[in-house]
Amino acid sequence: STPGGSKVREEKILVTVRIRPLSRKEQALYDLIAWDCPDDHTIVFKNPNHERPATAYTFDQVFDPTCSTQRVYEEGAKNVALSALMGINATIFVYGQTSSGKTFTMRGITENAVKDIYEHIKNTQEREFILKISALEIYNETVIDLLNRESGPLRLLDDPEKGTIVEKLVEETIKDSQHLRHLIGICEAQRQVGETALNDKSSRSHQIIRLTIESTLRENSGRVKSFLASLNLVDLAGSERASQTNAGGTRLKEGSHINRSLLTLTTVIRKLSGGKRSGHIPYRDSKLTRILQHSLGGNARTAIICTMSPALSHVEQTKNTLSFATSAK
Ligand code: ADP
Ligand code: MG
Repeated sequence: STPGGSKVREEKILVTVRIRPLSRKEQALYDLIAWDCPDDHTIVFKNPNHERPATAYTFDQVFDPTCSTQRVYEEGAKNVALSALMGINATIFVYGQTSSGKTFTMRGITENAVKDIYEHIKNTQEREFILKISALEIYNETVIDLLNRESGPLRLLDDPEKGTIVEKLVEETIKDSQHLRHLIGICEAQRQVGETALNDKSSRSHQIIRLTIESTLRENSGRVKSFLASLNLVDLAGSERASQTNAGGTRLKEGSHINRSLLTLTTVIRKLSGGKRSGHIPYRDSKLTRILQHSLGGNARTAIICTMSPALSHVEQTKNTLSFATSAK
């Protein structure tokens, strides 16, 4: 239980789905839209051949291709993001196959969250805030600092108090919202390094931008209540890297198709949403889940935005995404 004696409140994971518009390329190939949204919570496979009854999936929110990123943020991320201002660790993921709109969506979420965080700080004169940012990329289970790429691969260490820490990871203190946007821009540029040499790099790597927010009451009235929490913004590797099986249902032999961090994350999320928070959760099986351990489960708040193409040609991967999303609810 928490110091106040109240019980730990276990939040369920907020799971939403965003369908992007058909891309130019998909349109040029006369690809078809394979999905319907009868309401804001439901997505149905149109099943063009009418072989079986249509499968309906329901989520906290389904955003159709006309929804703005602003709305995706308001309904799929805002409350989780802002809880970090109150001392509650928060994590927002984008999950989906390559080219489904993860990076597009996460950019908008980050932009909106930065705006809201600074708005809150401006309106909360009685508290003093200190914001810090760190950013890393996990590629083939190697951790790279996006704010200091020269430092090379970083090690994870177990700290008795702080849990898993990333050794030598740079943490910059943020001066204002403009400075924060500038640093996020550096991270994005750094993430592109190596992208041309390895043209599927972004489909294999995970990016975590971590904002650490600390605040204390300005008045020194003896009982100074301070908050400290982190907001993790996580742009995941392409979900096609999570499939253990190929189209024929046999286990893939080629290891490069499987991403250990993504696979472990899906197991961890399944266990957390299955109410097994006290049982064994394999956080330690991957770098991503070790780094995020204290921002997942327990008192932490989590939102997952699953992104998908509406195209019929992507239906198999999209079904995998929706079945992951269903298991995360
Ligand atoms: P991912 O990061 O999942 O590989 P991207 O975010 O790079 O995918 O998106 C692939 C392409 O689709 C990009 O050109 C992006 O601008 C476009 N796109 C993605 N989502 C949307 C959307 N909701 N509206 C318009 N364009 C989008
Ligand atoms: Mg991307």
